[in-house]
Order: sequence, then C-alpha cells, then structure tokens
Amino acid sequence: MLAFNHILAGSIVGAISPAPLVPAVAFTVHFILDVFPHAYGEEPPYSRFLKIQIGVDAFMSVCAILFVLLLFPDRWQIIGVGAFFGLLPDFLWLLWRKGPKWLDTFLDWAHWIQWGERRYGWIFDAFYGMLFCITLYLLAGQPWD
Ligand SMILES: [Zn+2]
Repeated sequence: MLAFNHILAGSIVGAISPAPLVPAVAFTVHFILDVFPHAYGEEPPYSRFLKIQIGVDAFMSVCAILFVLLLFPDRWQIIGVGAFFGLLPDFLWLLWRKGPKWLDTFLDWAHWIQWGERRYGWIFDAFYGMLFCITLYLLAGQPWD
C-alpha cells in the first residue's frame, strides 16, 4: 500500500489507541492493510510509471502529514508516533536481501501477503485514502470552527 495511506492509518491508530499500545498497533495495522488490494511495487530500476507513482506518493505523504497536523494541533506527538510506526515496515525493505537471514524471512512473508498488488491498484489506494481522511476529520471533532 502507498506510503500516504500508512501515514493516515497510523495517525488514526495514534488518535484512538491507548498511548502505550500505539507503536505495536500501528506496526501491526501496516500488515493488515497490505493484505488488501493496492498499488503495485517494483524493484529498481523503476519504470516510468512507477517513478510517477513514487513522486505522487511522496507528495501525498507530505499532504497527509500537514492534514493531520492541522486536524490535531495539540495531539501531534502521539499521532506522529502512530504515523511513524505505521510507515516503519516499508523502510525495512531497504534491507531486503542485505540484512540478516531472519529479516529476509520476515520480509518474504511481508511480500507474500501483498497478493493483491495491481498496476491499477492506485485506484484502491485513492479510495482508502479518502476513507482515512474522512475518519480522521470525524475523529478530530469540529476542527476549523
Ligand atoms: Zn507495506
């Protein structure tokens, strides 16, 4: 699933979970989300299509962070923890086939659960993102009043 959705979902976890549980729950939710059909990935070298997808995802991720900061100006710390741990598993990919064997075994599993990666899957990601934004907006109560 695209990074901006992991940021938004991790933020939701940060907003609703008891603080001590936020890191573990946000980390776990990442893999639950990856089971759903979503945008596909590639190993480098990336195609033109994937470079565009990565660019849009990076832009949307910055927007997601700003959106959450605007919604929860006084709870950004715990929500930031949720967003961080929600995205963290995707940074582990940088170590795929470069790190220890147990990590490869784990990442092979994390890859296997993403059976639903499709080239057109960004449409699913756009839909999830909308749902997450609406959820965050409602959780924030009546912001900007
Ligand atoms: Zn992932």
